[in-house]
Amino acid sequence: MKDRAQFDRAERNAVRAQFATGEVPICPRCGVAMTERKIGGGSFGLGYARKREWLICPRCRGSVLFDVRRGTRN
Ligand SMILES: [Zn+2]
Repeated sequence: MKDRAQFDRAERNAVRAQFATGEVPICPRCGVAMTERKIGGGSFGLGYARKREWLICPRCRGSVLFDVRRGTRN
């Protein structure tokens, strides 16, 4: 299923890389800031803190969902 709203792997990696630097990710297609949503929080009976990030472009509706590993503390 090829959906234009779905980013390919290179695009997802670009978004993820931006997020990793602490910046607001920019949609690789539209160049607009993506909306960030947090899913889960690790306080629902999970044995460890697991966090997922869901980034959505308000323009093309492209979205990226990925797990965030908290290896270091800021
Ligand atoms: Zn977009």
